[in-house]
Amino acid sequence: MAILIVAEHDNKVLQKATLSVLSAATELAQYTDDRELHLLIIGYECQPVVEIAQGIAGVSQILVSDHQIYQSPLAENIASLIVSVAQEQGSADYCHILTSASTSGKDYQPRVAALLDVAQISDIISIESADTFKRPIYAGKAIATVQSIDCIKVITVRSSVFMPVQLITGNKVPITMLNPQADSGKSTFINAVLTQSSRPELTTAKVIVAGGRGMKNAENFKLLDTLADQLNGAVGASRAAVDAGFVANDLQIGQTGKIVAPDLYIAVGISGAIQHIAGISGSKVIVAINNDPDAPIFDIADYGLVADLFEVLPELTTVLKVKG
Ligand SMILES: Cc1cc2nc3c(=O)[nH]c(=O)nc-3n(C[C@H](O)[C@H](O)[C@H](O)COP(=O)(O)OP(=O)(O)OC[C@H]3O[C@@H](n4cnc5c(N)ncnc54)[C@H](O)[C@@H]3O)c2cc1C
Repeated sequence: MAILIVAEHDNKVLQKATLSVLSAATELAQYTDDRELHLLIIGYECQPVVEIAQGIAGVSQILVSDHQIYQSPLAENIASLIVSVAQEQGSADYCHILTSASTSGKDYQPRVAALLDVAQISDIISIESADTFKRPIYAGKAIATVQSIDCIKVITVRSSVFMPVQLITGNKVPITMLNPQADSGKSTFINAVLTQSSRPELTTAKVIVAGGRGMKNAENFKLLDTLADQLNGAVGASRAAVDAGFVANDLQIGQTGKIVAPDLYIAVGISGAIQHIAGISGSKVIVAINNDPDAPIFDIADYGLVADLFEVLPELTTVLKVKG
């Protein structure tokens, strides 16, 4: 029995989330008969990713399908390849198929589960045994323990809760090339509009400065940009701030936004609704700035400042500027 991990990448760089999924897989391997971890890389001209992946500790085989039909990550095509790998090796060989609970993982992994006629186990945060996992439900208000009796467990992993595995220089994991599957023809890639930012990506940022409806308008968000730049952090937002059009929706954090786990999360003018907390509970230190002493954000904050954000933010940026 082996564990199959589907890599997340952009054909050039392996996403850090995959290293965290590998960490979850390593934990899982302790409960299975065999400890083999196989990494599946699906892409086009993705050799740079393969080279990075060869340095991953603990992986015994890298399976690569490098073909033009995988240039755009269409879930139908990716799912069909994953299923063919699971079935070609004999369904008993792969006991678990893991990927990150990212937007793409959430796109193709349910299709994999459906094609294999098994249940998907979503967004796991802990591994109890080979068939039992913990996952948050009700926006993180409760933790469910789920057990699966399916022969293959198709899983998405909340990568922010698992420490990424290390890359080792000089490591050379063997590679097996795979033929692509036929194009499903069910979907077509039109275009991707990506936000260009010099700031760290929200899901991997060590520092996040996030604003809510209390910021009042888009112009005021520039105060957060300044603070984030001083702390080398990312800027995030509550859904209310996104819905009000203060910032783009790729900055939204929470149940229906991004799940983050920075070392430092600074919530400015955010009330702390349960759906927002669902996305930030993995943060190591939470600082809240809010002028309402009864705001629920103070219940989970490590440090709270009851103050007007329009007075505090300029003071904070001045102090940081002086300290350099
Ligand atoms: C199904 C569903 C999914 C959802 N998903 C998400 C999600 O993913 N992410 C998310 O964030 N929300 C989500 N929500 C919305 C959520 O319920 C809240 O409505 C939202 O988080 C509130 O955003 P907010 O804290 O910015 O706004 P508010 O609740 O309006 O809070 C604004 C805060 O700013 C403070 N404030 C105002 N002026 C100042 C000032 N001058 N100085 C200091 N503080 C000030 C106020 O005291 C207040 O606490 C979801 C809701 C539903 C129903």
